[in-house]
Amino acid sequence: MNTDLTQTTHLNDDVTIAMSERIARIKARMAQACARAGRTPDEVTLLPVSKTFDDQAIRRAVSLGYKRFGENRTQEIAQKTPLLADCEIQWVVIGQLQTNKAKEVARLAHELQSLDRMELAEALDRRLQLEGRSIDVLVQVKTSPEETKAGLDPVELIPFLKKLSGFQTLRVRGLMTMAILSEDQAAVRRCFAQLRQLRDQARQEGIVGIELDRLSMGMSGDFELAIEEGSTEIRVGSAIFGARDYTA
Ligand SMILES: *Cc1c(COP(=O)(O)O)cnc(C)c1O
Repeated sequence: MNTDLTQTTHLNDDVTIAMSERIARIKARMAQACARAGRTPDEVTLLPVSKTFDDQAIRRAVSLGYKRFGENRTQEIAQKTPLLADCEIQWVVIGQLQTNKAKEVARLAHELQSLDRMELAEALDRRLQLEGRSIDVLVQVKTSPEETKAGLDPVELIPFLKKLSGFQTLRVRGLMTMAILSEDQAAVRRCFAQLRQLRDQARQEGIVGIELDRLSMGMSGDFELAIEEGSTEIRVGSAIFGARDYTA
């Protein structure tokens, strides 16, 4: 690993060891879910979600080999970026974004997984052109009936992807969703299955410049179901870093 850890004084401490044990348990569960689905473990990536956790927690995860981190607020990325300048972190934005945050995303993010409307795509394209950058994007689709869940209406997906293929600065790589928050496993599974089916339908359109290799779905509470339904990337926060404290 080519990461300078000299700023950190206590990386092989108990806290880091505990984190590495939590990750090992997640990896084992990922492998079991892959086996149940006839998939191989290398088909699914673990994206640590570091929102609300401090730079020291992120450094610990960096020391364990991670460099992409999910965050949902651009202000938090802007605060953490200078503290972690030596770590070459790639920030992955996974939260619902106001259009006026496009500038921060264009400046700081490696990837955006929550693209859900044309107004945001246009604002990002303008800002990315100014920065001379391009980023990977996933389109977030609403697969859950919950009012609070963000994402594009599934019926709008194919027209939206066709329009996105015109933006040079946005490399469309796949789809993202958040499943319904429910004890009903069948209902959760249906959300993930729907995203996979939407991906398959969209692929048949053969839209030029649009790759749909990636399905970002599954979090701490539901990642095994997501993997069984075809997830290529699970976004895991609390199972790695511990319970979140939103009051901090
Ligand atoms: C916070 C968050 C996660 C991670 O949630 P955990 O339950 O802590 O694993 C995943 N995806 C999105 C979009 C999030 O906002």
